[in-house]
Amino acid sequence: MGRALDIRKNDIVRVTAGRDKGKEGRVLEVYPRKKQLFVEHVNIIKRHTKPNPNKQIRGGILDKEGPIDISNVSLICADCGPARIQHREKAGGEKVRVCAKCGQVLDR
Ligand SMILES: [Zn+2]
Repeated sequence: MGRALDIRKNDIVRVTAGRDKGKEGRVLEVYPRKKQLFVEHVNIIKRHTKPNPNKQIRGGILDKEGPIDISNVSLICADCGPARIQHREKAGGEKVRVCAKCGQVLDR
């Protein structure tokens, strides 16, 4: 891989491996160095939180998104489904991500 930045915050991605395979969601955060990201409602883990009255945190068990490997998600092409990404430069020099199969622009 090594193309961690192919996926960006706010992209809609599909999970292609692991427990939540097939789920789709919005990318909440990307950590390129760790090659991990967080996807809304995907890989939900239980977090034990200590009560902190100063911050009005009651404590208990909280559901929260856990990190998943960037290689386990894929951008979605409207026609092809999970897409392999290619980079293309438009006339004005603007770089866009396109579906490697059909050439459709995947940036929104
Ligand atoms: Zn396509």
